[in-house]
Amino acid sequence: MTELQERLRAAGVHSLLVQFADVHGAAKGKLVPLAHLADVLGTGAGFAGPSIWGTGLPRTGPRSEYYARGDAATALPLPWMPGVARIVGDGFVDGAPFEGCPRQVLRRAVARLAERGWTMRTGIEPEFFLLKRTEGGWAPADDADRLDKPSYDLKSLPRQAGFLHALRAALEAAGLDVLQLDHEDAHGQYEVNFAHDEALASADHLMLFKLAAHALAEAHGMVFSMMPKPFANQPGSGLHFHVSLWQGGQPVDAVAKHFIAGVLAHAPALCAIAAPTVNSYKRLTVGESLSGTTWAPASIAHGPNNRTALVRTLPGRFEWRLPDASANPYLATAALIAAGLDGVDRRLDPGEAVHDDLFVMPQAEQRARGIGLLPQSLAEALDALAADAVVRGALGETLAAEFLRLKRAEWTEYARHVGPWELDRYAAAF
Ligand code: GLU
Ligand code: MG
Repeated sequence: MTELQERLRAAGVHSLLVQFADVHGAAKGKLVPLAHLADVLGTGAGFAGPSIWGTGLPRTGPRSEYYARGDAATALPLPWMPGVARIVGDGFVDGAPFEGCPRQVLRRAVARLAERGWTMRTGIEPEFFLLKRTEGGWAPADDADRLDKPSYDLKSLPRQAGFLHALRAALEAAGLDVLQLDHEDAHGQYEVNFAHDEALASADHLMLFKLAAHALAEAHGMVFSMMPKPFANQPGSGLHFHVSLWQGGQPVDAVAKHFIAGVLAHAPALCAIAAPTVNSYKRLTVGESLSGTTWAPASIAHGPNNRTALVRTLPGRFEWRLPDASANPYLATAALIAAGLDGVDRRLDPGEAVHDDLFVMPQAEQRARGIGLLPQSLAEALDALAADAVVRGALGETLAAEFLRLKRAEWTEYARHVGPWELDRYAAAF
């Protein structure tokens, strides 16, 4: 028995949850008895490749089998599933790292940083809703959560304390350093922050957070939602990334402005990855919300501590405010790295720092100042991705092609759907 097996058995673990992320960033996996740890770390746990979104693998032959090969460093008991330890798997096909596995995509991006002696640390900040199904659709789980300006509300917080404490305890027990939990700016919306970490570990942490939050919300009779914009008249859920570059324990400041310039230059294509749903573009607009503002960026700009810009610069780091809660954290990080490195390689200039409130600056003035607007629909963002060799290159041809195919189908399905808004507006109008 290996030392890891011994340690897990001593912690009461009988099974491994071999977990990976599909192209949509949804956690997938299977249970494998702890006795078979060696197989999980060796060949990996096997899955039918075409049954996983985004692999593009064939139904037959050696390439039909997808193996999630366990990364021993990630093995941790799950407090909400007694006896089970999660282990994160890297995708392998036909004995080689699978280029279309999101975690392998991020590994490749991190390796490109390592070639320059750099590492990236990210702090990923999930915002999310706690919902319930109603006869008419969906509503915040807490009926009494109704303030017009609900940020930091301490009247709703105690009503969700059972869930929030269970979530905190679960994340802490799984090794995360939880920093804060608060009510966000929409009804039923919360945010949990945990400490920043190396880029790959942070993406793994976000997946762990999602696993825990789904399970614990359900146990508390609610639905955990990372839908970007469930309610049109209220803010949506962002997934902000706090980003810093390091070299041997020292921040890499000299290239930061070029890195940011790359992130801005590739913003339209990054949108497709960081805001990957039809619904994402209902968040990425400037407009009034019940609370006064949406706090979501629409302008391709950067500014010191400017929350109305796409990139908010802070001492020693920047906050990338584009991603929403539906983004796959591995793909978003990998795309961010590729865009930033392109800015560094081409010594791009990020343009002047914007100190003004971009939520009120007229479009004409933004245009005159060279400030671009983000894509306004998933279709527009997908066209930008298709045209951007740098961001597509980060994904690799296999995953880029599958991503574009699936997401274009999602857009077409949405565009052809006839919904209540259209019927109400047009049915009796002419
Ligand atoms: N919910 C906002 C968004 O969609 C962000 C709010 C904040 O700044 O924390 O990005
Ligand atoms: Mg927030």
